[in-house]
Amino acid sequence: MFLAGIQKNSFIDYPGKISCVLFTTGCNFVCPYCHNADLARGEYPQRIGLDEVTAFLQSRQGMLEGVVITGGEPTLHDWVVDLCQTIKSLNYPVKLDTNGSRPDVLDHLLQKKLVDFVAMDIKAPLEDYDPFCRSPRIKETLSASIRHIMASAPDYEFRTTCAAPFATRESIETIARTIEGARCYVLQKFNRRAACLDPEFNRRQDPTVFADEMKRFRSLATPFVQRCTIR
Ligand code: SF4
Repeated sequence: MFLAGIQKNSFIDYPGKISCVLFTTGCNFVCPYCHNADLARGEYPQRIGLDEVTAFLQSRQGMLEGVVITGGEPTLHDWVVDLCQTIKSLNYPVKLDTNGSRPDVLDHLLQKKLVDFVAMDIKAPLEDYDPFCRSPRIKETLSASIRHIMASAPDYEFRTTCAAPFATRESIETIARTIEGARCYVLQKFNRRAACLDPEFNRRQDPTVFADEMKRFRSLATPFVQRCTIR
């Protein structure tokens, strides 16, 4: 097992907890606005093994309150199960960030009670995933992940990065209907200053969704979910 990196402290990645963040490499999506291009392409050097992660987490017991596994896409790696098992054996809650493309892995982790919080990105209405992933069965795949999360995750959130041209009033309402009844739907502001996987993404048009429109998105999504927040 090899990770690309460890962020030793974070106050924002695990809701309500001081956490560390473990970064995996490689992703099966090509989101044009991705801010982790090197990780997504699998180009970032992989240099941290399970022994090093274990030693680090042992040294932080009593200081850290949780561990976040993010990517890239962590569920692409079969060893994510061993990683979660190791973290749980050290009594840390685990949060998993995922694009939802491996519902079988997600379900396995949930059934084995190896994750405590799942954050799944929903990039667009499930019929409109072509800019992000060209898999012909992506709608069924993502629907399965949504079902597993809502049925079995101890805690969870669905998240949409609100960047033009993908985030519109229609797309946000459609996504909210798809996750109807969900505990939490997060609308994430897009940061235009960071470089993107598609280098032209910020230049083709201004992807920024301004504060008033974000609030409008929230009011459209709120009737369908238990809580909708802007982050
Ligand atoms: S933003 Fe898209 S391309 Fe980047 S890591 Fe997440 S799912 Fe992969």
